[in-house]
Amino acid sequence: MRPRIKGYSFLLEETDPALVFTPEDFTDEHRQFIRTTREFVEQEIEPIREELEKLDRDLLKNTLKKAGEAGLFMIEVPEQYGGLGLDLISQMVVIENLGGSGGFAVAYGVQIGIGSEPILFFGNDEQKQRYLPRLASGEIIGAYGLTEPGSGSDALAARTSAALSEDGKHYILNGSKVFISNGGIADLYTVFGKVNGEHFTAFLIERGAPGFSIGAEEDKMGIKSSSTTTLTFQDVKVPVENVLGEIGKGHKIALNILNLGRIKLGVGVGGGIKQALGRAVRYGIQRKQFNTRLVDFPLIRQKIAGMVARAYASESMGYRTSGDIDEAIRAAGAHGEPTLDRQLATLEELSGECAINKVFDSECLDWVVDEAVQIHGGYGFIAEYKVEAGYRDARISRIYEGTNEINRLFISGNLFKRAMTGRLPLIGAVQKIQAAVLSPLEPYDGAGKPLADVAEAIFNAKRLYLFVGGVIAQRFMPDMDRISKEQEALAWMADMVIHIYALESAYLRAVKRIEAGDPPAESHADAVRYQMLDSTAVIEQSARTLLEGYFADDSLKTNLAVLRKFAKWPHVNRVELGRKLAKAAVEAEGYPFEVVS
Ligand SMILES: Cc1cc2nc3c(=O)[nH]c(=O)nc-3n(C[C@H](O)[C@H](O)[C@H](O)COP(=O)(O)OP(=O)(O)OC[C@H]3O[C@@H](n4cnc5c(N)ncnc54)[C@H](O)[C@@H]3O)c2cc1C
Repeated sequence: MRPRIKGYSFLLEETDPALVFTPEDFTDEHRQFIRTTREFVEQEIEPIREELEKLDRDLLKNTLKKAGEAGLFMIEVPEQYGGLGLDLISQMVVIENLGGSGGFAVAYGVQIGIGSEPILFFGNDEQKQRYLPRLASGEIIGAYGLTEPGSGSDALAARTSAALSEDGKHYILNGSKVFISNGGIADLYTVFGKVNGEHFTAFLIERGAPGFSIGAEEDKMGIKSSSTTTLTFQDVKVPVENVLGEIGKGHKIALNILNLGRIKLGVGVGGGIKQALGRAVRYGIQRKQFNTRLVDFPLIRQKIAGMVARAYASESMGYRTSGDIDEAIRAAGAHGEPTLDRQLATLEELSGECAINKVFDSECLDWVVDEAVQIHGGYGFIAEYKVEAGYRDARISRIYEGTNEINRLFISGNLFKRAMTGRLPLIGAVQKIQAAVLSPLEPYDGAGKPLADVAEAIFNAKRLYLFVGGVIAQRFMPDMDRISKEQEALAWMADMVIHIYALESAYLRAVKRIEAGDPPAESHADAVRYQMLDSTAVIEQSARTLLEGYFADDSLKTNLAVLRKFAKWPHVNRVELGRKLAKAAVEAEGYPFEVVS
């Protein structure tokens, strides 16, 4: 059996490609969900896309209900609560294939995510019986109110207050929330407040509760078909039975739900990346300038290649992490542990990987939608062309589910904490690297391995990370608290970690294809090598910037000399590789690695 998956262990070990879940491993059931979702988009969303963009609450709610009738809300909900109790991958394929549906995708994501997961994971049996079957069928719509006017990133500083009534039957809530997705259409709200101004707690509030009011719709830059409102509580009486989880333990709910939200957001964003790529390629095929198709201009081909490589890395990473989560839950189930508890523990274990997905994917999406507009030229700036909305819709992904700054701080902060407590054997690995740099470096043994050049680059990138992370940490020893204030150090180290994981995920998938002898294996290799060019550039630049920022004079010179020892990447001809990779996309009229056509 596969050893238990440890968060961040990819930095210290090589992963066996056979153990990594990839889109090519989709089961028949996954493939059926993909088809059902695409049919839903084609039949129920595309024909009314323009009306949805005008945000008619009834239309949005009715369309969501149709998604419920199509069974798209019940995937993860256990059977005893009216759901299908399926794996995370089944949910992910639906999220991905709705990912290009702008605000509707957000409304859907809230319903199956933050709108129902707090109850799924933290509700008692009575709360689950009361709400989950109706959420799973789409009879009721959920929303999640954490953010307040004065507390966004610092979410636990909420000021909404909750006081127990004299008869002990209710909590009286006062305060307000802002930017709540599904705010204007939901029936059930999970909201957070502080009991006696101190104990952060989650409550379930139903629409129509006296004193509970819902504000007007925000006029947003993008995702216009989603509902985003304020919520106001004026002496709202919430029955004590509607406390979710324990008093004072609301942070557990808020933080755990975020972990799952981040990987789901990442996979959904991946759907948006592929959609923008497809639109750009198809436009570039039919549009001619200088009597030549746009897709035949080398500069356009390089843009397309960049899109394909990002889509490939994002997709490989999203399904790798999701597959790891599913696998860990299955393994725990085999030992008879309660699945929901195990699921939470797994999500915490892989919380770093979830955040990595969120940051990488949302930034890839922004790059891809920007280039998709560029390929459309002036038409890309005109609302009639769908890339215009795609460009606006993309921007929010770097802001919610924790801004990318907060996620970067989390990725490194969380990793350091695990290293310092011995949960992750990072310190031993750092010491080994530091001892190794004193003598000639041990060469990488890639004999007989497919894509050995990429494997060596990943091996060197990890050694570089361990070296730089080690010297930066030592710079602040013994006062490790100081490092949490060095935000640049944490963020740039996070960039190294993000690109190591993204590149390795793409590599593992390509190796799996090569070993399986798939005919398009060569294109998989091209996508990985193209991503390697970008990822190794970020990794090396981040390492250099870190060393230059925290060292000077002789110590800087010594550290930069070590950097040069590790930063050895294979030579790749980007001109030829980019043209070739783009050709595969032009022939496929979109993303060339789609497993369900
Ligand atoms: C369309 C939309 C939908 C949303 N949906 C929901 C929802 O359904 N439920 C919900 O509860 N919330 C929702 N939000 C809120 C969203 O999660 C917050 O906007 C987000 O967490 C950022 O908080 P803020 O807007 O207060 O920005 P701030 O926290 O004020 O941040 C402003 C800037 O400062 C940076 N910053 C903040 N703290 C630090 C720090 N410690 N170090 C370095 N930089 C820092 C941030 O990264 C950001 O760049 C939604 C927001 C929008 C716009």
